[in-house]
Amino acid sequence: MTYVHDTIEYLMRSSPAQADFYQAAEEVLTSLQPLLERDPRYRQANIIQRMVEPERQILFRVAWVDDDGEVQVNKGYRVEFNSALGPYKGGLRFHPSVTAGVIKFLGFEQIFKNALTGLPIGGGKGGSDFDPKGRSDTEVMRFCQAFMSELYRHIGPTVDVPAGDIGVGAREIGYLFGQYKRLTGRYEGVLTGKGLAWGGSLGRTEATGYGTVYFAQNMLADRGESLEGRTCTVSGSGNVAIYTIEKLYEVGAIPVSCSDSGGMIHDPRGIDLELLKQIKEVERGRLVRYAEEHAEATYTPIEDYPTGHNGVWTIPCEAAFPSATQNEVNAADAAELLRNGCVCVSEGANMPSSAEAISRFLAAGIAYGPAKAANAGGVATSQLEMSQNASMSQWTFEEVDGRLQRIMADIHRTARDTADEFGEPGNLVLGANIAGFRKVADAMIDQGVL
Ligand code: NDP
Repeated sequence: MTYVHDTIEYLMRSSPAQADFYQAAEEVLTSLQPLLERDPRYRQANIIQRMVEPERQILFRVAWVDDDGEVQVNKGYRVEFNSALGPYKGGLRFHPSVTAGVIKFLGFEQIFKNALTGLPIGGGKGGSDFDPKGRSDTEVMRFCQAFMSELYRHIGPTVDVPAGDIGVGAREIGYLFGQYKRLTGRYEGVLTGKGLAWGGSLGRTEATGYGTVYFAQNMLADRGESLEGRTCTVSGSGNVAIYTIEKLYEVGAIPVSCSDSGGMIHDPRGIDLELLKQIKEVERGRLVRYAEEHAEATYTPIEDYPTGHNGVWTIPCEAAFPSATQNEVNAADAAELLRNGCVCVSEGANMPSSAEAISRFLAAGIAYGPAKAANAGGVATSQLEMSQNASMSQWTFEEVDGRLQRIMADIHRTARDTADEFGEPGNLVLGANIAGFRKVADAMIDQGVL
């Protein structure tokens, strides 16, 4: 597969020090081989090289004043990767680990994920190395206002529609929306994840987590199995993790773990969802507090995790839902999950499993739902929010959730049928990558060399 090698070499030369981006690109490109062999049009149109190069990358300074009157400076990013299928769509991440390479990996994944939803949205991603943790509400507001003071000139409801991601929730979207409105004088659907009273969609908060569970249900149903009564592990304790846990309870499963960057909780009787919401959504606190209220639960700080492991994946489970961040499941974690009898992994986070971990899941033949398929419910529901904004209407929760369920079933069917078509039944990585790529590539060919 010289094209994979050549493309990654080109990326390393032209965009140095972006390891996460090379990892995401290599995974997709490797899957495409059977398609490229079958259909020479994609090579002739040089689609691969066009696809790995963002249409536009915006880097900017974000200067703001903290509560002590000190001037702070952060980096701001928006990568508008591909608009073949619609306006750029993808979240904003505020986390100290954000670099150009992280935003590019997320933006690249987003292209194919968005294509898989079947909805008219292109791929983009943005963010900042700003850390909202420990900052007061007024500091977060001043940062968001400064960030939007540059971003507003690049976005719009038919141009580029950002949403939330790590570190960007309802509070941040509110401040960003307010500043956009102030600068442009327009009240329009330029961001998704908005508050319900000012243009948000019912069901958007829950969508990514719920969707990841729906995806797992679809995978298991194909095998004549279900989540009912199954012990499940979940990592993270943010938006995706919380609503994954909520839906797991609704379908009769038992979610026994959650984590944050400080450590993890193992509660064998099942995570106390109300307490988790109180700690994370209301108090913005740390998970260690959970164990103070529940004597039967164990809190393990990150420094006490078994060497070489993310502790969450050493808890025996039948289904695992990585919902924190990239590369949180390594080869040793995958081996441990399989050894303990895990039969299903459905990824809520983006690129949570390393390439070696994915190989192990595929070799073991378990139900493995890669992120760009399994967590696409979030962006799909964001597009439903855009539809409601454009038609100045608001749908019921049942309407949105019903559509989400149908979209997740369609994504699963598309990935599964594409894997079958290319002679790799059950390989949803290959199925999702080829199906997403083919849709975008065909649109790029139709639209000419751009
Ligand atoms: P949140 O900010 O709400 O929560 C993130 C969670 O992950 C927190 O518990 C956080 O812990 C933990 N976490 C973040 N970074 C690290 C790290 N480096 N090491 C350990 N733990 C970490 O984000 P979301 O729940 O929205 O996002 C989680 C994942 O899901 C991300 O990969 C995101 O890209 C993906 N995703 C999100 C979507 C959405 O709709 N929100 C849609 C599709 C994918 P702490 O608070 O201690 O930092």
